[in-house]
Amino acid sequence: MAIQPIRLFGDPVLRTPAEPVVDFDKELRKLVKDLTDTMMDAPGAGLAAPQIGVGLRVFTYHIDDQLGHLINPDLDLSAELDEEGEEGCLSFPGLSFPTPRAIRAVAKGFNMYGDPVTLEGTDLMARCFQHETDHLNGVLFIDRMDVKQRKLAMKAIREAEWSGMSAPVVKLSPHATQGRAV
Ligand SMILES: [Zn+2]
Repeated sequence: MAIQPIRLFGDPVLRTPAEPVVDFDKELRKLVKDLTDTMMDAPGAGLAAPQIGVGLRVFTYHIDDQLGHLINPDLDLSAELDEEGEEGCLSFPGLSFPTPRAIRAVAKGFNMYGDPVTLEGTDLMARCFQHETDHLNGVLFIDRMDVKQRKLAMKAIREAEWSGMSAPVVKLSPHATQGRAV
């Protein structure tokens, strides 16, 4: 097990676009293992490398007993949106908000051995692929909310006990997210 501290909102690494993976080597496989272990421990439905301070385009997911990872993802999204679905983020512990997302997503990328992979997801899986790929672009779920919802979210974030703790901090409440935060 190699559980890493999860970076919280306010840490600049979460606003820094990640670099594409070029070397599919042992280091990459260690990163996938660290992400998987950290996600399972949280617990969370997904985790992106910048959330543990690594600026590479890699994420893991664990939804409906499907455990996996994707490297250098490229998404194709449905026009149809789920406007009301609740979404959380391990970098915003204990908080979730309605966040609009495409209902279906096709995610193309690579596995840790460099083989091409195509994943298809609906609902929570599609939401996870979008949330994690956003992380790789330095985009956070608050950026996807409308102005009114973002205002409510920012108020809750300012009032959260972890607010302003930009140094790496291990999660505060292990089960508050019920495994749905990403
Ligand atoms: Zn997140």
